[in-house]
Amino acid sequence: MESFETIEVHSLEVVCDGGGGALGHPRVFLHIDQDRGEITCPYCSRSYVLPKSCVPHERQHRINEM
Ligand SMILES: [Zn+2]
Repeated sequence: MESFETIEVHSLEVVCDGGGGALGHPRVFLHIDQDRGEITCPYCSRSYVLPKSCVPHERQHRINEM
C-alpha cells in the first residue's frame, strides 16, 4: 500500500514530473483549483496544496470587499 505525497506549493501553477524513479512521468503543468486549494496529479497521484496562509490575490480582494 502506497502513501502519496502531499506537497505544499506557493503558486497556482505547478510542474510535476513524479520526482523520478518508479513514479516518474513526463513533465506536466498542473493548475491548482482555487476553490479547493489543491490539485492531484493524474499521473502519480501526488497532491499539491496551497497553504491557507497563501491565499491567491483575487480571493484576498474578495474577502476585503465583504
Ligand atoms: Zn505527477
